[in-house]
Amino acid sequence: MADKRDYYEVLGVDKGADASTIKKAYYKLAKQYHPDTNPGDKVAEEKFKEANEAYEVLSDADKRAKYDQFGHAAFDPSMGGGDGGFGGFGGFGDFGDLGDILGGMFGGAFGGGQRRRNGPVPGDDIGANVTVTFEEAAFGVKKDISYNRVCRCSDCKGTGAQGGSAPETCSVCHGSGQVRRVQRMGGMSFQSTAVCDACRGTGKIIKNPCNKCRGSGQTRENKRLTVSIPSGIDNGERIALRGQGNDGRNGGPAGDLIIMVSVRSHSIFERDGYNIYCEVPLTVAEATLGAEIDVPTLEGNVKYTIPEGTQPGTRFTLRGKGIPYVNGNGRRGDLIFRASVEIPKGLSDKQKEAMKAFAESCGESNYAKHKQFFKKIFGNKEK
Ligand SMILES: [Zn+2]
Ligand SMILES: [Zn+2]
Repeated sequence: MADKRDYYEVLGVDKGADASTIKKAYYKLAKQYHPDTNPGDKVAEEKFKEANEAYEVLSDADKRAKYDQFGHAAFDPSMGGGDGGFGGFGGFGDFGDLGDILGGMFGGAFGGGQRRRNGPVPGDDIGANVTVTFEEAAFGVKKDISYNRVCRCSDCKGTGAQGGSAPETCSVCHGSGQVRRVQRMGGMSFQSTAVCDACRGTGKIIKNPCNKCRGSGQTRENKRLTVSIPSGIDNGERIALRGQGNDGRNGGPAGDLIIMVSVRSHSIFERDGYNIYCEVPLTVAEATLGAEIDVPTLEGNVKYTIPEGTQPGTRFTLRGKGIPYVNGNGRRGDLIFRASVEIPKGLSDKQKEAMKAFAESCGESNYAKHKQFFKKIFGNKEK
């Protein structure tokens, strides 16, 4: 136990990683080191067990909290730490259930026909898309969604047997779902296990299948939910609703509903993290003389005084007028606006005369950049 690696390190995630990040990291490792893809590789097998152990703790909020507090001691009865209630991590020798999980995830690439089918099988996660406006993402919103999920059949309570009658234990495999086969070649005999044909690996025989689910124990339902989209959420982020995915089998836990959030673009603002950006066009007079202008924010216009001689591209920051941080206790990003200067078009003759008169009154000292630029090109020669 002494040289155990940190669980977060095992999965390669940050201490603050959310549930879906942990899950993803775990699936990646489980796929990489699964015994079926690394037959006879002891190192891979160890890594696989290590990842399983880390995931078992970090995927469970209670266990994770204990682990964060006590470290490995929380789960080692001999250390006397924590409450010792988890009983260690036995039983990783049998990959049957995990084969089912991975089979569900990766289209049955693992386990083949050899896996056990009567153990608890967790339900699959379900993905759902929710589109919100820019403002809804900023300030949070509740959205009603409806989706289809696999659920436990209500008529047979998931047993698959009519009227909730108990299925009978398979007499061929005695409920294990597996049968042993012995093959003899030469003087040697080889023993292998295979899925029981009589019960197709379930360990149970249903004499009277349930009418509603035709013996599968599961049906589909349309579910409606109100989802709270937290303020500060960004495009492409996900919200996991624990246990709202497909129901599991044989007492396995339900999967999660994973809400993928799309945020519509805004007519004025662009977002980068928690800061928002926009461009504010100024008139030549405003930029030249300075002015009090209206600046748009997510909560209506505010007055802002720009100084005399404001150049195009100058950035101004309104602190705390950006997007609220997710769970940030009121902390917000900034609104940054960039001044552009609009050159007037369609001037009347009178206006043009006035402009010429103004231009003639200007000297080099009024146009520092202009002067510098032409000095660089023409040296000391007069332009
Ligand atoms: Zn049923
Ligand atoms: Zn059987």
